[in-house]
Amino acid sequence: MNGVLNLVSVGPGFADLIIPRAIAALQESDVIVAYDLYLRWIEPYLEGKEIHTPPLTQERARALLAIEKARGGAKVALISSGDIGIYAMAALAYEEMREDDTFEVKLIPGVTSANACASLLGSPLSHDFATLSLSDLLCPWEWIEHRARHIAQADLACVLYNVQSAGRQEGVYRVLSLMLESKAPHTLCGVVKNAYRPGQEVAIYRLDEMMSLKFDMLTTIVIGNRFTQRKRGQIFTPRGYNDWSAPDLAVAPAPVLPEHGVWIFSGTSDGNALAAQLAKSGASPVIVSSATEYGGEIALKDCPGVALWSGRQGIEARRQALVQSKARVVLDATHPYAQIMSAQLIELSRELGIPYLRYERPATPLADDVIRCASPRDAAEQAIARGQRIFLATGSKDLATFLQAPGADQKQWFVRLTAEPEFLQRALDLGVPRDRICAMQGPFSAAFNSALWRDWQIDCVVTKESGAAGGYAAKAAAAHELGIALLVIARPQLDYPHVSETFDGVAQQLVALQIP
Ligand code: SAH
Repeated sequence: MNGVLNLVSVGPGFADLIIPRAIAALQESDVIVAYDLYLRWIEPYLEGKEIHTPPLTQERARALLAIEKARGGAKVALISSGDIGIYAMAALAYEEMREDDTFEVKLIPGVTSANACASLLGSPLSHDFATLSLSDLLCPWEWIEHRARHIAQADLACVLYNVQSAGRQEGVYRVLSLMLESKAPHTLCGVVKNAYRPGQEVAIYRLDEMMSLKFDMLTTIVIGNRFTQRKRGQIFTPRGYNDWSAPDLAVAPAPVLPEHGVWIFSGTSDGNALAAQLAKSGASPVIVSSATEYGGEIALKDCPGVALWSGRQGIEARRQALVQSKARVVLDATHPYAQIMSAQLIELSRELGIPYLRYERPATPLADDVIRCASPRDAAEQAIARGQRIFLATGSKDLATFLQAPGADQKQWFVRLTAEPEFLQRALDLGVPRDRICAMQGPFSAAFNSALWRDWQIDCVVTKESGAAGGYAAKAAAAHELGIALLVIARPQLDYPHVSETFDGVAQQLVALQIP
């Protein structure tokens, strides 16, 4: 009797995503070889069959076993979740088969994680896309990075499989930062866990927010391209190429900028004040770079005489602009919590051989009744443990960390944000009701804070150690007056080559570098 080897795909989870042809193949088979977990979904078709379940790690043994049975004349079904031809058992079976084997081979396709997860996010893969597995069990890690770099440079939408496991924690952040080198930080992404299985979770983030998330092996990441948009709480990528060179994209052409200047990366009131002072007192031209158009407008008003380079420019555009304008020094006066930006600037200066200086506003000493938190994640946990009506003065970037933390749905959340449409949209997408959003540019007085928090009956406030320019003291005073818990997220620790806490310190550093 001639055996049959059915290579059967059973989809992401629930039985209604198994195609009828897969069911027919299961029914036809006498022997089933599968990983335990998958048996649950195909249980109705298992009765009376010989079942083998070698452990997940022994993939080759599973393939060999199925082949041996087929060689012996049995009708065998070897099973994988998703599609058996995608990061799964089919290739192993082909590797182990011999040219002179006579059993019949039938491959039954299935819904793979890429399109299962995409369907839960909207339609992010509607134009060209790539998939990348981050598992280096069967492939050297350098290849994975090499491919990630090319995917990012081509601005392909992409799907990351095997994202993070207990033994592989760092790789995903490495790949995300490679993506950030060529894709814009606001590129829309989706994170899907347990698609079409119990415990399904679906969330949308910007690419730069992904660096602070934790993932696992049940998760798939989808990264959009420059055209990916939001609508109705979902994301989609339009078909076709649109206007590839439209502005505000990852790599916009560098504008003409003064040469041999001092570059100040700002976006904060004290960064602008520093720029204004240097423009007035120094002989070198000053170029201010701010991440938003609004920041640019403010800088133009606050710093007469500087050249401006604003809007979200990717690292590639920054590299070009610094090289073309022959920058003399990179002065990093970004927000104390903008650590991704600071890390990029340090790296870029090193690569281009341009001196890097850091200006960081002094931190305010914290009072004894303040609760210190190591990270946004830690603050989310502590806030949920202590508060019922929780006020977030932490900015828009970390909102998801709070609003999607375990237990967050049992709390009432109130947020204060800068009035950027994109920030508001993020809060709304995360389900914050309109009457719990205060959208206004700071700084805020202690009186304003305490009136707002009293009216909203806030019992817990979360903020950052943002120093005087960030209005920290006015928040601490109001929380103290109302007797409510104040949680403060610690500044991220970066290994800065040079740090000055005063404008004079910066001036001295410039003199030491012989910059007029
Ligand atoms: N053959 C499978 C992929 C196996 S690799 C397929 O075609 O889908 C295993 C990886 O797939 C996991 O680490 C995860 O990234 C992804 N994955 C599998 N099932 C998933 C599900 N239900 N939801 C989200 N991701 C899933």
